[in-house]
Amino acid sequence: MPVVEIQPNLKHDDLARLLGSPKGRIASNSLNKKLKHWKKRTRQIIRPRLVYQKHKLKKVSAGIIQLDGNYRLKSAKLSRTLRRSKEIICFLATIGAGIEKEIKLLMGQKRLGEAYLVDAMGSIMVEDLVEQFQSHMGEHYRLQGQLVGLRFSPGYCDWPVTEQKKLFKLIDCQKVGVELTDSCLMKPRKSISGVFGLIPCPEGKDLRTYNPCADCNKFDCPARRS
Ligand code: SF4
Repeated sequence: MPVVEIQPNLKHDDLARLLGSPKGRIASNSLNKKLKHWKKRTRQIIRPRLVYQKHKLKKVSAGIIQLDGNYRLKSAKLSRTLRRSKEIICFLATIGAGIEKEIKLLMGQKRLGEAYLVDAMGSIMVEDLVEQFQSHMGEHYRLQGQLVGLRFSPGYCDWPVTEQKKLFKLIDCQKVGVELTDSCLMKPRKSISGVFGLIPCPEGKDLRTYNPCADCNKFDCPARRS
């Protein structure tokens, strides 16, 4: 089961957006100072790692995805997205527990603004780690005549968070040091698990990956991708 190490980026625009400045500008000098400090510090304390495994899809029917080894995932939107896929990539990424320890320290010192800032930085970095991984896989499989589909994680869209337990059986979570609690939360918290399909795409064919958001009326959904 391959483990990859990717250094995540901390894009200023993403951070500004999370801090409520949609145009990417952070005007306050004191906030900019804190940002500079925490950008440097978070680089020192993160431990980014990602493990992934490719699995064959046995059958994809309405709402059910059957994988080799008799594993069954349940999600209508995921199954529709995977209907042309023959294989699926399951992954688990983390930036480690360092950020959480730092947040706990800050909270104990009542530096709540900085705790929020560090938390936001952690979220952006783990998301970027997964983005970079998927983009790298997209490039790799494109050369083999395959497309990568949209990414799904348990707990988002119509895929129940309880399916996390199944996903953890499909990946060697110990390789990256991530545990799952009884309530299906990941420890360390700044971790992302998920799947995406591989879609055969013969050369010259202009296949598009299916996006269920295009047919969905939940316009206030925070995970919307269209
Ligand atoms: S908007 Fe997209 S992500 Fe949100 S529920 Fe609908 S299909 Fe799922």
